[in-house]
Amino acid sequence: MTHSFAPHLSAGTSLPFDIPTDLLIGDAWSAGNGERIPVINPSTGEILTSVANGSVADAMAAVDAAEKAAASWAATPPRARADILMACFRRMIEHRDALAELISLENGKALSYARGEITYAAEFFRWYAEEAVRNDGELATAPGGANRILVQYEPIGISLLITPWNLPAAMATRKIAPALAAGCTCLLKPSEETPLTALAIAQILLDVGLPAGVLNVVTTLEPGPLASAVLHDPRVRKVSFTGSTPVGRKLLHESADQVVSASMELGGNAPFVVLDDADLDAAVAGAIAAKMQHGGESCIAANRFIVQSGIHDAFVEALAARMGALKVGPGTSPDTECGAMINQAAIDKIDRIVEAAKAEGANVHVGGEPQRGQGFFYPPTVISGIDRQSPILREEIFGPVASITRVDTVDEAIAVANDTEFGLGAYLYTGDLKAGLCLTGRMESGMIGLNRAVLSDPAGPFGGVKQSGLGREGSHHGLREFTEAKYVAVEW
Ligand code: NAD
Repeated sequence: MTHSFAPHLSAGTSLPFDIPTDLLIGDAWSAGNGERIPVINPSTGEILTSVANGSVADAMAAVDAAEKAAASWAATPPRARADILMACFRRMIEHRDALAELISLENGKALSYARGEITYAAEFFRWYAEEAVRNDGELATAPGGANRILVQYEPIGISLLITPWNLPAAMATRKIAPALAAGCTCLLKPSEETPLTALAIAQILLDVGLPAGVLNVVTTLEPGPLASAVLHDPRVRKVSFTGSTPVGRKLLHESADQVVSASMELGGNAPFVVLDDADLDAAVAGAIAAKMQHGGESCIAANRFIVQSGIHDAFVEALAARMGALKVGPGTSPDTECGAMINQAAIDKIDRIVEAAKAEGANVHVGGEPQRGQGFFYPPTVISGIDRQSPILREEIFGPVASITRVDTVDEAIAVANDTEFGLGAYLYTGDLKAGLCLTGRMESGMIGLNRAVLSDPAGPFGGVKQSGLGREGSHHGLREFTEAKYVAVEW
C-alpha cells in the first residue's frame, strides 16, 4: 500500500495531486518497512499526516536507482534537461498559493513568507534551466605553445542532498536544480520536520517528465547512519548539505573516507551594523526585513544589531515600536506577520538565550516571554544593553528576537561584527556609500547587504566563510559545485 496526503487548503486553492508520503526510489513510491514519521503543524501542535521512515537499505536502493539513471541523464541533451527544469518552474508558480499553504502548514511560517519562498524556490529551476545550456568549457594554448588545453565540465556524479526545515522548498530546489542541470542524479533527504513540501516538488518534477531514478527522495528519523552509509558507497561523489554547523562537521568527517566532494551551507550569526550617518527609517525597515524573514528562522536572519551611539536610542525606540506591532498567529492566517516556530525545542532555545541576557542586566523593550497555549509561538522581542560575552551574541537565536549592542566607533562596530566563528550574511547601513563599500572589505562574511536587507537571489552566489560553510549555491557558481573539470591536453 502506498500513502498520500490531501492537505486541507483554503477555498479556491488546490494541488492537482495528493502528496505522496512514501519514499521515491527509482520509478516507484515505496512505503519502505512500514514505519512512519508524524508531521506536526507547529501552529497547533497537531499531527498533519505521516511520512515513511526510510532505512539505510532504502537509501542504498535509492543509490542503485540513481546509478541506473546516471548515464542516460548525463547524456540527455542540455536543452532537454533545461526544458524539464523550466516546466517545473512554471508548474510551481502556477500552484504557488497551494504550495505556500503547504509550507505554512508544516513549518508554521506566515503565508507571505511562504509565498515568497515558493517564488524564490521556483526561480532556481528557471535560473538553472538557463545555466544548463551554458555549461561552457575552456580552450587555451599551452604557455610553451606546443599544445592546446581543453577543459570540459562534466557531471560530478551521484549526489546526496540534505536539507533543513526552515526553507523546505528553497533549500531543496537550490540543490536539485543545479544538480539536474549539471547532469547528476541524486538522492534528496529532506528534514523530517518538513518533508511534505519536498515530496510535492518531487511529484511535480515527475509530472513534468523527469525520468525515473534521476531524483530519489528518502525521509528518515536516522539521518546519521543513512548519510554515513551513502557517503561510504564509492558510487556517490558529492554531498551538498544545508543545515547546522555541528552536523556539517560530522558530514565532512563522513565524506573523508571516500574523498567525496562536499558543499556546506551552514549556520550563521549575522551582524546588522547601523552607523551614525545611516538613514534611520531605511535602517529600521531593513532591520525588520532582515530580522523577521521566515519568523527569524533563517540562516541569514539578522542575529546581532550593532548600532553606533549617535543613532542608538532612536533606532531602539523605532525598532521596538515596529516589532511590537507585528501580528503573531498561525502561519496560514492571512494577516499573520510572525508565524509559529518549528517546535517546542526551538521555543526553549530562544527562551534560554533571552533569559540569560535578562539575567545579565539587558533591557527588554518589547516581548521577552514565550507565548503559552496551543502551538509554538514566541513574540517579536527587542533587547538592548547586551553583555559582550552573552550567549545572545554567540548563538544563532533562530527566532524573532533582536538584540542590540551599542558601539562608539566604526572600528568597534566592525570588530564586534567579526567577533564570531560564523561568516554567512551581514548587513551594513550607512549614508556614505563609498565608505560603506570600503567597510565591506573588512567584514568577514560571504554575503553583505549594503543598505539592503534582502540577500537571497538565485543569480547571486549564496554561501559563507569561516565556519558558515564551503562552496556557493545559486548563480553560475552553483552549477560548478556539481561538475568536475576534465582537462585534455591536445597535440594540436
Ligand atoms: P540540522 O543540521 O539539525 O539538520 C539539517 C538536516 O540534516 C536535516 O535534514 C537533518 O535530518 C539532517 N541531519 C541531522 N543530523 C544528521 C547527521 N548526523 N547526518 C546527516 N544528516 C543529518 O539543521 P536544521 O535545524 O534542520 O536547520 C537549521 C540550521 O540550518 C541552522 O543552523 C541554519 O543556520 C542552517 N541553515 C543554513 C543555510 C545556509 O544556506 N547556510 C540555510 C538554511 C539553514
